[in-house]
Amino acid sequence: MVRLRFAPSPTGFLHVGGLRTALFCWLYARQQSGKFIFRLEDTDQKRLVEGAEKDLIHMLEWAGIELDEGPGIGGDFGPYRQSERLEIYKHHVQKLLDEDHAYPCFCSTERLDNLRDEQRANDETPRYDGLCRKLRKEESAQRVTSGETHVVRMKIPEIPETLLLNDLIRGNVSIESSQTEDQVIVKSDGFPTYHLAVVVDDHLMQITHVVRGEEWLPSFPKHLLLYRYFGWDPPAFAHLPLILNPDRTKLSKRQGDVAVEDFRDQGFLAETLVNFISLLGWSPADDRELFTLAELVEEFSFERVNKSGAVFDREKLNWMNQQYIQNLDQQDLVRRVTPFVAKTAYAGQDAELLEKAVKILQPRLVTLAETPKRLALFFDEDPHATDPEVLSLLKEESSKQVLAEFIKQLETMESLNEENLASVVKNVQTATNIKGKNLWMPLRYAITLEAQGPDLKLIVDLFGREKCMRLAQSAYEL
Ligand code: GLU
Repeated sequence: MVRLRFAPSPTGFLHVGGLRTALFCWLYARQQSGKFIFRLEDTDQKRLVEGAEKDLIHMLEWAGIELDEGPGIGGDFGPYRQSERLEIYKHHVQKLLDEDHAYPCFCSTERLDNLRDEQRANDETPRYDGLCRKLRKEESAQRVTSGETHVVRMKIPEIPETLLLNDLIRGNVSIESSQTEDQVIVKSDGFPTYHLAVVVDDHLMQITHVVRGEEWLPSFPKHLLLYRYFGWDPPAFAHLPLILNPDRTKLSKRQGDVAVEDFRDQGFLAETLVNFISLLGWSPADDRELFTLAELVEEFSFERVNKSGAVFDREKLNWMNQQYIQNLDQQDLVRRVTPFVAKTAYAGQDAELLEKAVKILQPRLVTLAETPKRLALFFDEDPHATDPEVLSLLKEESSKQVLAEFIKQLETMESLNEENLASVVKNVQTATNIKGKNLWMPLRYAITLEAQGPDLKLIVDLFGREKCMRLAQSAYEL
């Protein structure tokens, strides 16, 4: 049975890159009737962020990704927080020390800093020079017993060799062992580093596929060597391509949001974000773009994940969200906009009007968060246009003529609705001799207040004669 894990560090919010890793793991686990495991990699005690674990899990749930095993959920391979597995790591490190694959290192930070500076000055790649590797075993054992501060380092083979990785995405990748150094595997605070903990846990938790970002590729030789030292078979690996800004730099906060919760708060649907993120690196065999989670489970494969970076195209995300919103059942859309409306003065007001407004807005809504500002037209006593394009058109002389005539026509009518709108407008045309765009635009701008506003006919039908007259009057008076 396949077992895949998402193993974030609790250093902050769930990044869209993290969501993609979790999603690909989950899709594959579901497709193969395997398990999806959440493991918290919290061995770096300096970087812990309060509440991060809960947030990470919460955002995965929001996206529709359920965990089979993890902290607070349980499973046969726990504990699932690395900080609760220290005894396990200790035992494994001892094994490496006993078998001479690791050694204690007593070098001070100062010595290491100087060494690095020296190497840089000589144009060499900074790396540990192996000073403590040369210590006699008895001497280092005695220094450890006397309580001297130290770390533990793993040994890189003395004779350089080529380490081979058969990556599910990249195919054969070879890395020279000489490119790595004697990596610290236990820090001076007794906590393991990522490199040790990840290998021990992936093995003990019987992970079959390690899926993670490309930035972890250089760590691969260390991990492969650890598997060898422990006498374990390594799992399969898949290193996902980077996610890029449109200028092909690494996706960063500076060019927009990267936290999943920010996208949720901006009114992107979970379905949209998951669909959009699935296409960051992966593509289906045909040119379909819209997928439900169930369809993704069916279609996903590592073979169809690209090696090259995937551009995070915010325009496409907007387009996709609009598609999803358009396809929502109307009651569902009302339910989803409610938390956004709850933060406004319209909260708890006329529920029926809210439903009607949402129905009219639905075809053009790009995000849920836009709803409140669009509701002003429906709920406010005296709503006004603010868009400069709208204002300048309404101020034109011919617009004023159209609006004046429209008001005049309405004065003699009993009602205004979807059916009689066209004939009223026809009368305005005959009286003013203005037609086409110059006739319709002032009316549409005056009554919807927007250049890209909702369908005029539907709005007119909802508002009726009085409100349309009032809106035309205030536009006329601009
Ligand atoms: N804790 C690592 C991270 O935060 C996990 C890397 C891995 O999946 O091996 O990305």
